[in-house]
Amino acid sequence: MTNAQGASRPVLAVLGAGTMGHGIAQIAAIAGYDVRLTDVSHEALESAMGRVKAQLDKGVELGKVEPDVRDAALGRLRTTSDAAEAMAGAEIVVEAVPEVMELKQEILAGAAETVEPDTLLATNTSSLSITAIAEAVPGQERVVGMHFFNPVHIMALVEIVRGDRTAPDAVERAREAAERMGKTPIVVSDSPGFASSRLGIALGLEAIRMVEAGVASAEDIDRAMELGYRHPMGPLRLTDLVGLDVRLEIARYLHRELGDRFQPPELLEQMVEEGKLGKKSGRGFYVW
Ligand code: NAD
Repeated sequence: MTNAQGASRPVLAVLGAGTMGHGIAQIAAIAGYDVRLTDVSHEALESAMGRVKAQLDKGVELGKVEPDVRDAALGRLRTTSDAAEAMAGAEIVVEAVPEVMELKQEILAGAAETVEPDTLLATNTSSLSITAIAEAVPGQERVVGMHFFNPVHIMALVEIVRGDRTAPDAVERAREAAERMGKTPIVVSDSPGFASSRLGIALGLEAIRMVEAGVASAEDIDRAMELGYRHPMGPLRLTDLVGLDVRLEIARYLHRELGDRFQPPELLEQMVEEGKLGKKSGRGFYVW
């Protein structure tokens, strides 16, 4: 891709324009990539552009984004429903399609057929094995996890996940790309829950066991972490925000993969059964 001054800009393609895809497209465009955002749903593409524009306008309003930076970023961001067109000349492809193993394998195998042999193929999976996804992809050494967090334009972390066959160079390129997008990368070997979910769930489950055992109220357990350990939010409030059903699913998965220390507490199972799912249902450890 060549800009008005004749210099070339790297192209980054984002596959899937939902919650995560639109955010990744936004920060990549701000970082100076020529971004191509694609989705099977036309509505998703339209909605993604609306969200990016609204977020950047808000950034300008708050004085966090210069108006000319917003305009230049929007000028570098294009949508297309043609995946091959989106990936043409891409240096990096980031997939952010739904969390389904077969879908991710299919999407990245398709991408591998389309792009240059040295294009980095990144997956934003939050829980699936990078090694298993990559097995279906020709040239699996260039498949790497780039786990962004929601909302992407605000959260600073990217977990770079190294599959068993991921080349060191691919890890390095993913790390550089994350830094270029203003994020702080950490590198994690492919293992269940990576670093963030594994630790986050461990703390959350223990907090729930403490409520169960009557050690302290939910508010006080949260305060212990907020005031004593400077966590921005206690583990029970966070569980309410994420959704108790979502956390239960992750706990069950980690229990299967990593053993008994991740066994879901009875209280969590019971609250989910009763429909106390946290903020989205109006009730969890707190009333919302
Ligand atoms: P989402 O449902 O909001 O968006 C997925 C998009 O992919 C949809 O717009 C859908 O139309 C599109 N899509 C489906 N099939 C496609 C295909 N074949 N080609 C192109 N686009 C296709 O999902 P999301 O929340 O953005 O999650 C995407 C990925 O990011 C998942 O792997 C998820 O686990 C991971 N993730 C999500 C969060 C989160 O908080 N939502 C955080 C970190 C990671």
